[in-house]
Formats: sequence, C-alpha cells, structure tokens
Amino acid sequence: MKISIVVPCYNEEVALVFFQKEIDRVSQELMPDVTFEILYIDDGSKDNTLQEIHHLAEQDKRVKYISFSRNFGKEAAIYAGLKNASGDLVAIMDADLQDPPALLPEMYHAIMEEGYDSAATRRVDRKGEPPVRSFFARKFYKLMNNISNTDIVDGARDYRLMNRKFVNALLELGEYNRFSKGLFGWVGFKTKWIEFENVERVAGETKWSFWKLFRYSIEGIVAFSTAPLALAAVLGVIMCILGAIAIVFIVVRQLAFGNAVAGWASLACIILFLGGVQLLCLGILGSYMSKTYLEVKNRPIYICGETNIEKK
Ligand code: UDP
Ligand code: MG
Repeated sequence: MKISIVVPCYNEEVALVFFQKEIDRVSQELMPDVTFEILYIDDGSKDNTLQEIHHLAEQDKRVKYISFSRNFGKEAAIYAGLKNASGDLVAIMDADLQDPPALLPEMYHAIMEEGYDSAATRRVDRKGEPPVRSFFARKFYKLMNNISNTDIVDGARDYRLMNRKFVNALLELGEYNRFSKGLFGWVGFKTKWIEFENVERVAGETKWSFWKLFRYSIEGIVAFSTAPLALAAVLGVIMCILGAIAIVFIVVRQLAFGNAVAGWASLACIILFLGGVQLLCLGILGSYMSKTYLEVKNRPIYICGETNIEKK
C-alpha cells in the first residue's frame, strides 16, 4: 500500500519544515504496511518555498514536487497533485498543519477496514476566526445546499484520503473552474466524516481575505447551481403581475377621477427599480457566460515550471 500526500503550498517557507516533521512522525506509525510519497505542489510562491522543497527532496527520497510557472490557485494545485500522485490512496493536506496529519491513521482504517471509498474531515467549530466570516460561511453553506443538488457539508475541509476509484472519478471532471468541495460531493461514493476541532496555522498567514472568500463562494454557486438563472425568470413574472395590477388601477382611477399629471415621482421610482432588476439579471447571466467562456477556451488548469517526477 502506498499513500500519496498532496500538499498545495503558496508562500509556506516557514511552515514546511514543521509539516515534514509531523508527516515523518505519522508515517512511522503506519510504517510497515504503508509506504509514503509526499507530493508538494508549489503554487508559484514568491518566497523561498521552492528552495525549502529542494532541501526536503534532497534529504528524503519520498519527497516529490511540482512547481507551477505562476500562482494558479489551490484548486489547480489539488488537481495537479491528484493527477501526478502514484499512490493507491491519495490524501490532500494543507501545508500549515491546520489539517492535522495525526488523523491519517484513522482515515486509513476507515478505507482499509470499514470499506469506505474516502475519509473526509470537517471542523466542528470555527475557533480563531473572525465572527463575520463564520456568519457568512454558515449562510453560504445553507444557501448552497438549498439551491444545488450536490451535497456540500458545512465546515468540510479539503483534507481527505481517497482510494484510486475516487481519485480517478475526480480526474474525469476536467473542468477549468474547479470547486473541490462540490466536486467531492458530486462524484458520490461512500465517505466517512471525521470531525475535529479547529487548529490555528503553525506559521505564516492565511491567503484568504474576506473578499477572496466571497468571490470563491460566488464561483461555487455558479459552478454547482443554475438557480440564480431561474431567478431572472421569477423576477420577470412578478414584475409582469405587478404591472398588470398597476394598469388596471390606473385605468380605473382615470375613469373615476380623471387626474392625468400626478404620479411622475412614483413613475421615476418604478423606472429606477426596473432598471436595477434588469441589470441584476444581466449580471447573473454574465457570470454564467463568463464561466462558460473560460471553460470553452479549454486552457490547461496549470503549467508546470519544474518537477522531480519522471515522465511515465
Ligand atoms: N494555497 C495555494 N495556493 C493559493 C492559496 C493557498 O496552494 O493560491 C495553499 C496554502 O499554501 C495552504 C492551503 O492552500 O497549504 C490553504 O491555504 P490557507 O491556509 O491560506 O487557507 P485557510 O486555511 O486559511 O482556509
Ligand atoms: Mg490554513
């Protein structure tokens, strides 16, 4: 049995040493029955992450790496890792030790002995996170599960261990706009959920600002739900009904009282409001179209700058 551990790294020069140490410790626990491959994906880091990985690769033959030509994002790094992993089982793990490697033996047993295809993790709390962020995250998961038929679990991390079947299914989804949390649910199979309490990162800082997360959540919605598109139609129907009622009202009032000039202010409000609704709907259409545009171009998900993996 061989486990590949895929580690997306973006500016993680300080965290990597701690990470490698922890992996060494955990791998010893599983040692005789399991061999390891540690696949670092350097996502175009601007600090000394790549040099640090070179060091680790010199010291440890199990260390493989791929370095991107620029920053392509964590989703691209995950894809590259899954694609190049040679293990029977593949794990995805953050470099900052927020995904505790110590859970690995439990995940391994879930797949080997309990017959699951993947073992995934979710945080039961959001300790150490700004309250505003937690609030919006909760709302996002709730909305997402209402408007999409893919199951997206609140608090789920990308940290999971998967068997070959699961990995191959993920690789068949070759889309450019990747939203892993959705893809994991989409492929199905039997997944065991393991819960843990939030851990703060060992070193460095998070790469996610509030706005980056917000944009990411919109991406998730566009990728896994077409409900916003239907919203335009629903708004249209509501406006038609309101319009019809208004026409009847105005005709009756004109016949009964006959005052023609009053009401320009309300008219201006209605025009503004309708203009807003139309622009909103155009915006929604536009965001789906832009995603389609990117998808149709069929560009590669990442470009490899340097690697120590031999071509098969
Ligand atoms: N990461 C990456 N590319 C990016 C941003 C992040 O590969 O553009 C990696 C990062 O190095 C880390 C993981 O993705 O290993 C999670 O990032 P981070 O810890 O910043 O996110 P958080 O844990 O705060 O959600
Ligand atoms: Mg982190």
